[in-house]
Amino acid sequence: MTSFDVEKIRKDFPILRTRMGGRPLAYLDNAATSQKPTAVIDAVSEFYSRHYSNIHRGIYELSEKATEMYVHSKGTLAGFINAGSYREIVYLRNATEAINLAAMSWGGANVGKGDHILISEMEHHSNIVPWQMLAKRKRAVLDYISIDRDGLIDIGSYREQLEKGPKIVAVTHVSNVLGTVNDVKRIAGMAHSSGAAVLIDGAQSAPHMRVDVRECGADFFALSSHKMLGPSGIGALYAREEILESMEPIFGGGEMIKTVGRNSSTWDDPPWRFEAGTQNIEGAIGMEAAIGYLKTIGMGKVQAYEKELTRYAMRRLSEIDGLSIAGPSRSMVNERGGIISFSLRGIHPHDVAQVFDSEGIAIRSGHHCAMPLVRGILKEAALSRISMYIYNTTHEIDRAVDAIYKAKKLFS
Ligand code: PMP
Repeated sequence: MTSFDVEKIRKDFPILRTRMGGRPLAYLDNAATSQKPTAVIDAVSEFYSRHYSNIHRGIYELSEKATEMYVHSKGTLAGFINAGSYREIVYLRNATEAINLAAMSWGGANVGKGDHILISEMEHHSNIVPWQMLAKRKRAVLDYISIDRDGLIDIGSYREQLEKGPKIVAVTHVSNVLGTVNDVKRIAGMAHSSGAAVLIDGAQSAPHMRVDVRECGADFFALSSHKMLGPSGIGALYAREEILESMEPIFGGGEMIKTVGRNSSTWDDPPWRFEAGTQNIEGAIGMEAAIGYLKTIGMGKVQAYEKELTRYAMRRLSEIDGLSIAGPSRSMVNERGGIISFSLRGIHPHDVAQVFDSEGIAIRSGHHCAMPLVRGILKEAALSRISMYIYNTTHEIDRAVDAIYKAKKLFS
């Protein structure tokens, strides 16, 4: 293992001291959501205790301070993903809402009848359904980039689809099922060369690796705070400033306007134009604390540690007879993140998850909100999924492997 002090990190997460079913909790469901360090819990609590008020509205000290803290949080996120400034960061409820904003507003204005929208076969429903809705509304065509046998984007298929001249290419950075890390810089470069805009779904990448939205060439980048140690109920859409300036809001109401007449209104500048009504202010404060926590460790170290855990888990899981891993194989660990979905011959994933539960291990089983991939391509009703983060250990992986042997014994 690297110099990474996982035991020290574990002490920062109070929930890891709890038990599940009488066993010490092994939390291996990080692709669904992550646990929170004391730094985040305290930041939210401190904000409620000392600074809470509404933002933008008041001219009293408390409100000015809360406003300053909210904007500061955006600046921190902008720095974390290397956006130009806080003006390129729209706060929304989650990555899902971020993609919906891009699809409804930018898509609504730039995609017309007969136009093509291009996504991949490994998308989460969040990066499928908003585009289906847009395609239906505009009578546009939704196309899919195939994935190959290794669970990677098939570049040949991508090239072919680009020949149709899509208006936008929307792909995930890291697959929540296959664990594949896509080469988004290459994907964005190819899209731009054929005149398409690019949206990257960063829900599974921003928590686990260094992200540089400018270097990778994203026009839009979506993320969720709850998967990166922050509170739930807040996420963000990054978009280049000139793109945001060209976009119409999709929610109308307080705080997103410049003027309101009886019949029409004018919009505030971005990003405020897209944030109607009272925002998740404490969420923004908590997300900033989460980013601060991750930055203190260093995203390079986060990624390196998770890679070692993944390598270890892939080796242990590959030893199990009858277990098949979806996505990049054991020899392709550099192409994957810390998400491993698997099936066990003759045993239903829900039975597997139940055995895990009885052993105090939290994992997920199901279609993982990626039905076209799990059901359509992989031809599985459901998969079991282990997903890791900075506080997981090889000991927890060993416990997971023991649980799989137990499931085999019980159900085979
Ligand atoms: N995209 C991917 C790849 C995801 O894994 C998820 C969450 N499972 C989402 C989008 C949606 O995230 P949220 O539910 O926070 O909007």
